[in-house]
Amino acid sequence: MGLKIYINGTYYAKEDAKISVFDHGFLYGDGVFEGMRAYNGKVFRLDAHMDRLFDSMRSLTIESPMSKAGIAKAVNETLAINEIKDGYIRLIVTRGAGTLGLDAHLCSDPQVIVITDHLALYPKELYEQGLRIVTAGTVRTNPASLSPQIKSLNYLNNILAKIEGHLAGCVEALMLNDKGEVAECTGDNIFTVKNGKLRTPPTAAGILEGITRAAVIEIARKEGLSCEEVALTRYDVYTADEVFLTGSAAELIPIVALDGRAIGSGKPGPMFKHLLEKFHEEARA
Ligand code: PMP
Repeated sequence: MGLKIYINGTYYAKEDAKISVFDHGFLYGDGVFEGMRAYNGKVFRLDAHMDRLFDSMRSLTIESPMSKAGIAKAVNETLAINEIKDGYIRLIVTRGAGTLGLDAHLCSDPQVIVITDHLALYPKELYEQGLRIVTAGTVRTNPASLSPQIKSLNYLNNILAKIEGHLAGCVEALMLNDKGEVAECTGDNIFTVKNGKLRTPPTAAGILEGITRAAVIEIARKEGLSCEEVALTRYDVYTADEVFLTGSAAELIPIVALDGRAIGSGKPGPMFKHLLEKFHEEARA
């Protein structure tokens, strides 16, 4: 059976799952999304994803056509219909179809779309060897212009940085904010480990507040580890003992070099391995 895609209460075959070319999600990136992960048929921290989705919509004044519980139910149902127990879920809410102008208030009929698929993860070797990344010249969007806390359909800021990474032979790239502080990578949050202490940039650095990031902070504190949300510069990354990224699709993935400089031993470290194990314990529970 081919994958079935949910659009506003109806399931469509992949080739029939379509939206209007007048939808402002398509015309302007005017919409929001979530990327989630299911383990053993259960979506990891679904409530947190729903809260972030609704905050994204509220900040853009997109009125949800469905309740939080209704959307959560659609996500679970789409997984069940597609018989996916361990997979990735992409949830999208668009502004809806309008005119060719920017006016959001002329749009109607927001589309709620759920796509599930089997995982397309980073290959296993990268978890064992770690990623080598570079710093992108593309600066992360200033929160005063467009908050990176909004998980919107307009990802051009991140895409441009990711292109820079690819041109340098890397699958990820580090993004700084306009103060030159470390923000995050193009699709993942970043953590450093120095003398056994974890650090990650705060929301004020201009980041998407990752659900995986929050889980790792929680796990670390539960383990009695120190984990600070604090402004970091590249100095802190270059001199860290370990660096790793967090995201729903990637989970935790080690970084072993930035800008051609080896980090720590140049190999994935013990803190990364320990936290990944604890993360799996929670996710697969
Ligand atoms: N930052 C950005 C820019 C992202 O797009 C994502 C999600 N892919 C993350 C961080 C990680 O967030 P989460 O842990 O909620 O997947």
